Amino acid sequence: MAKQDLIVLALNPSPTLDLMEHALPAAGFGLGIVHNRSELDRAMQESIPALLIIGDKFVDQDGLSISAGILERFPTLPIILYADKDTTGFAKSALKMGLSGYLYAPLKMEDIVGEVQRSLARARQLGDWLRREVKRTTASLAEKAEFSESERHKLEAIANIQDGVVVMDRNKNVILVNRAVRTIFNLGNKELAGKPLADVISNADLKALLDRASDGPLKYHEINFDDGRVFNAQYTPIPKIGGAVTMQDISYLKELDRLKSDFIHTVSHDLRSPLTSILGYTELVERTGPLNANQQEFLHRLQGSVQHITTLINDLLDLGRLEAGFDTRRELVQLENVLKYSLDMFETQVKKKNIKLTVDVAEGLKGVRANPIRIRQMLDNLVGNAIKYTQPEGAVRVSMSMQGDQIILKVDDTGPGIPPDEQGRVFEKFYRATNTVDGVQGSGLGLAIVKSIVDSHQGRVWVESTMGKGSSFIVLLPVQE
Ligand code: ADP
Repeated sequence: MAKQDLIVLALNPSPTLDLMEHALPAAGFGLGIVHNRSELDRAMQESIPALLIIGDKFVDQDGLSISAGILERFPTLPIILYADKDTTGFAKSALKMGLSGYLYAPLKMEDIVGEVQRSLARARQLGDWLRREVKRTTASLAEKAEFSESERHKLEAIANIQDGVVVMDRNKNVILVNRAVRTIFNLGNKELAGKPLADVISNADLKALLDRASDGPLKYHEINFDDGRVFNAQYTPIPKIGGAVTMQDISYLKELDRLKSDFIHTVSHDLRSPLTSILGYTELVERTGPLNANQQEFLHRLQGSVQHITTLINDLLDLGRLEAGFDTRRELVQLENVLKYSLDMFETQVKKKNIKLTVDVAEGLKGVRANPIRIRQMLDNLVGNAIKYTQPEGAVRVSMSMQGDQIILKVDDTGPGIPPDEQGRVFEKFYRATNTVDGVQGSGLGLAIVKSIVDSHQGRVWVESTMGKGSSFIVLLPVQE
């Protein structure tokens, strides 16, 4: 048999008490009757009843204030207040106090049983809801505990990896730096959490990276140290937290790159003199006596090839000089003036391919502090490529404008376009994209030279291109203040 619900009656002797004594057991409830306050307290201590019915006067005390005390200890216990008669405000004060019901004489059996059942049902509903809530909160707490445990493991993993990792909040205050970063910047065991990263680590390259952080995730950014070490750093925003800087030591790659550049430079240098003399002698051959048509043709082919290698070698030597930082000449240069020379040089090619060339230079362009020879080289390469890769009857547009303290140079064409996955690579040395039309010659060095020139003038260059539609090369250069 199911356990009976125990109902405690704390009522003064009256016909109603008698009635309840009969009605409730008959309805299947267990009954406990207490006769004074101390019996009531004991009963509550022994086992919490399912429901309490208390008189508004119990012995000589006020039922409402006894109920208030009991509710403080057992907030979910259903309590019904009983009064000999309905007085103004009786029901209101019972409900205001948080009791679950009230009864007043005269009463019939079903009034009593009905009110008891209603109160118990409501208490059960409340109990169920509470249990559900507790379960839900416990589950979410457990989840959180599990989460922070796994977070802790992750943080430990970060602390131990070889790459440098700094995690910052939205205001660029340090949340975490790992051991590698402490070693890289010689930070010892200083407490860094909560401090602005720029104050903790004073490195100009790192500062520049943080300043550019709002431009979005950056893939390549070099951090240089006076002792020759070089790191590649990336900034990655972390939603809801702030961001992270990760750094890898690329000193050995830089050293390899330097060795390779030195090698190329030496070889190119040594090759240039014999090539110049080959070219010189082929020109002399023509002058020393009449040649037949075949000999003439072979000689021209020879000259073409030597010319091609000489251009390549010159490009390589140029790149070597630019990369070594030898380009220090600076004067005030008006880009639009240099552009005229460049366009003159391509006039014949433009006419031959019947390319529609448009030039759009905004009024009042400011000058840039630059090396005019390098600027000319940059324009020659960009405009030259646009003309070279665009099919006959296509269009090329060169525009220059100002935005804030920068000059924007754009070279647009209606050429073949560059596949999206290759657009980032066309600025690499010797990289020729797969879009190149048969017969279009090149060394893959032109854009590498452009990038080096732009970099050495503190500018930025990038390409936007759609396959089959054309490409736009965009250069930003800071103007002279
Ligand atoms: P190249 O000597 O091959 O022209 P560049 O460094 O100037 O070398 O360019 C690298 C590659 O980028 C080219 O081989 C070509 O695939 C691509 N490219 C450069 N400019 C354009 C352009 N305007 N339109 C289409 N592709 C281009």
